[in-house]
Amino acid sequence: MTEQTQERKNVAIIGAGITGLSAAYYLQQAGHSAVIFEKSNRVGGIIQTTEKDGYRLEHGPNTLMVNDKRVADLIKSVGLEPELIVANQAANKRFVVHQRKLHTLPSSPTSFLTSSLFSLSGKMRALKEPFISKLASESSSESFADFIRRRFGPEMLEKAAGPFVSGIYAGDPNRLSTRFAFPNIYRCEQQSGSVFKGLVKAGKEAKKGETNRLAKREIISFKDGMEALPKAVADMLNDDTIITEADISSISFNKKSKRWNIGWKAGKCHGQGSFSDLIITVPAHKLEDLPFDTHVSDVLDEVTKVQHLDYPPVTAMVLGFKKEQVNHPLDGFGMLNALNEKSKMLGALFISTLFENRAPEGHVSINVMLGGARTPEHAKMADSAMKASVMDELRQLLGIEGNPTFSNIVRWEKAIPQLNLGYSNILAQLEQCERKYPGIHFAGNYRGGISVGDCIISGIKLSQTISN
Ligand SMILES: Cc1cc2nc3c(=O)[nH]c(=O)nc-3n(C[C@H](O)[C@H](O)[C@H](O)COP(=O)(O)OP(=O)(O)OC[C@H]3O[C@@H](n4cnc5c(N)ncnc54)[C@H](O)[C@@H]3O)c2cc1C
Repeated sequence: MTEQTQERKNVAIIGAGITGLSAAYYLQQAGHSAVIFEKSNRVGGIIQTTEKDGYRLEHGPNTLMVNDKRVADLIKSVGLEPELIVANQAANKRFVVHQRKLHTLPSSPTSFLTSSLFSLSGKMRALKEPFISKLASESSSESFADFIRRRFGPEMLEKAAGPFVSGIYAGDPNRLSTRFAFPNIYRCEQQSGSVFKGLVKAGKEAKKGETNRLAKREIISFKDGMEALPKAVADMLNDDTIITEADISSISFNKKSKRWNIGWKAGKCHGQGSFSDLIITVPAHKLEDLPFDTHVSDVLDEVTKVQHLDYPPVTAMVLGFKKEQVNHPLDGFGMLNALNEKSKMLGALFISTLFENRAPEGHVSINVMLGGARTPEHAKMADSAMKASVMDELRQLLGIEGNPTFSNIVRWEKAIPQLNLGYSNILAQLEQCERKYPGIHFAGNYRGGISVGDCIISGIKLSQTISN
């Protein structure tokens, strides 16, 4: 369809997290109309930055990995480039805690060969990866743990891939699906026969500019914190696009006109609208709260099955110290535990190393994560017990003296969706629902990737699907 003849869609979006905001922005850029219904009184969803006692605190994401041109373009087009801050060079260094000691995770072939983290036999086994043949048929039922054990050996799972899974999903590698939770790694094996060969090929394509991938990936945030991004996208939307404190009272589908009718209340205002498309970006565990009409009851039946997606709890505890209390240079992105490490923590980010102005002058801040799919009970500890046991570990690992001068705890009862084995059934249900009811689109971090960058790309792709 040419630009001149393109039909102007009017789209209702439920949820003003980064997925919903990105979709609205690109729809409006393409000449469509979009309105966002947001239950809370703010935009950004999980992305939330606050300030307390001179500390800048991220309740959700601390960083955004920019490795795709489309994400870089969004930042530029919403005018945020001058606000962008790139993580300190030290962020390239990552620590793994193994047997109560910090080890640097190798970042190059030479450092891998000389690393004290891996045994000689572990290294030899990992080096065989390019020569391990791929599974005979495409498998959507291999866990990430089995995949890594098969291709790289058990030691790489324990000391490299396992910690990586904690850092991204707070997940359990024995349950996460390689195909859905790590699609890029899965694709490397499928297309190149080896993860190593696939990564080399992807790197070459990125350098030649043959994909959206950027040759150089940057870990970034913004001077005022991550929330600057959703706020800037929201500011670019047409007036009256976002209705906050919105209570959706009805959602029905008119089979004849193939349009979605939405009723809502916001404070004293209430309204009714008819839309060509409906994008739902609420977390999967909130789908059952949406008031679908009984006519769409089979939609309801299908979507409520998505409840079975596990969202384990995660607690983020920021601790602040005077610099002289910490006998470690904190010269890295942070530390993650090896899989079998006995610890209450999943890992920690060295926030004040990553970005300036995250802690008051003369102080440092560390963001400790607890909980996740393997140890959800750790996220639920009482504040004082949590702080005491984390401090015991930090004293030993980082040589910290005394008590923190600052602490802040953010609890996510349902944090990150786990794309576990069986996710293909959930996806099939969503797709079936979308086929049956034209115009409905399920989006958000449980579909298409959980990172902020993935959510932006999901929003862009949706706007293209709707435009076509
Ligand atoms: C603790 C934590 C740390 C993270 N760290 C990182 C990181 O460092 N880097 C990274 O890239 N990613 C990180 N992530 C992941 C990333 O932040 C999220 O995946 C992403 O922000 C999700 O965006 P979203 O728009 O899909 O969903 P959300 O942000 O959840 O937005 C959904 C919106 O829907 C609204 N809503 C819910 N129900 C209704 C309703 N009935 N009616 C109307 N609106 C409704 C909600 O209020 C919310 O605003 C982290 C996540 C967590 C939890």
